Amino acid sequence: VTHPFYRDTWAEINLNAIHDNVWAINRSLPEETEMMAVVKANAYGHGAVDVAREALAAGATYLGVAILDEAIALRKAGVDAKILVLGYIRAEDILIASELNIAVTVFQLDWLKQAASILEAAGKDIVCHVKLDSGMGRIGLRKEAEIRELAHALKTMDEFDVEGLYTHMATADELSSDYYAVQKERFITMISWFEETLERTVGIRHCANSASALRFHEEICNLVRVGISMYGMPPSVEMTPVMPVKLTQAMSLHSRITHVKQMEPGEGISYGMSYKTKGNEWIATIPIGYADGWIRAHQSGDVLVNGKRAKIVGRICMDQMMVLLEEPVEPGTVATLIGENQGGFISMDEVAGRIGTISYEIPCTLSYRVPRAVR
Ligand code: PLP
Repeated sequence: VTHPFYRDTWAEINLNAIHDNVWAINRSLPEETEMMAVVKANAYGHGAVDVAREALAAGATYLGVAILDEAIALRKAGVDAKILVLGYIRAEDILIASELNIAVTVFQLDWLKQAASILEAAGKDIVCHVKLDSGMGRIGLRKEAEIRELAHALKTMDEFDVEGLYTHMATADELSSDYYAVQKERFITMISWFEETLERTVGIRHCANSASALRFHEEICNLVRVGISMYGMPPSVEMTPVMPVKLTQAMSLHSRITHVKQMEPGEGISYGMSYKTKGNEWIATIPIGYADGWIRAHQSGDVLVNGKRAKIVGRICMDQMMVLLEEPVEPGTVATLIGENQGGFISMDEVAGRIGTISYEIPCTLSYRVPRAVR
């Protein structure tokens, strides 16, 4: 693995794992169901351009991002696949999206009118997906009257090509599917209101994130939006034991020990001396800290050195932290914070659980300072 940085702390991105995960998830879907690879937030911290290319090569047919800037960055890198912005874009930016052939999400009548008049004046048009809020309470149309009103407006607008209808499920990763079923029924009803008023059917319907795509195959839908599981992570801890597809975690995080020393009993480690050596202990320093996204809450968690677990001791600093070793190692020895090291393994779920969060947050919050090394 090579990367153009001069520091020995890096996240390794295994594109083969991404390829295999996309392929395996895709294979588990009904034949006619297509896959959108969700590559927002720099592909959940994995590197959007490389991941997008790999996912497309493995069978994904659409890319999903959260904001217009992410779609533009993909286009600038030469990615010419279909891209949908899943979040809000400003109406005044509609021409940029149109020129780059980026599909946008529509869910407000006033916004639609404003964007349509900008497109009309420029003689341009755009592909859109309409977002229906079946119970997430985030963005989307909720009421029958507003759904019909938007469909009515779109029916006579040449500037907007309605390619898709979609919603987002709030509880697909929980074992109980009660609320999922409520949302599904609402989505079906909302589609019928919309299509009745539009006086045609809409080609693409989607409601599934990774959790729903893996668990439920809805006849009403013909596309799934897969994020977390493409990166090799189960959508939730509850789903881990019941995952229907075998996935491989694509990201690992490594560093190289810079300093090793034996300390006397009772000596303090790091700010505030929150850890004191209990005997003659071997303490190693690792050059990663909270400015890398490796926040202070990881104190007392484990890393892997020569396949063995070593505990993080003392407060994590901005750029460095210390671990307790059973025996001395040479400076330059690899320390693995996430992933595999000589037969040992630290999962994203373990790291997330340690700091009381979900796996999604860990790769997303590794900072710009950690080079992503692709292999
Ligand atoms: N669709 C939408 C609208 C999303 O916001 C997200 C991510 O949060 C996804 C799909 C992908 O979800 P997941 O990463 O759980 O597969």
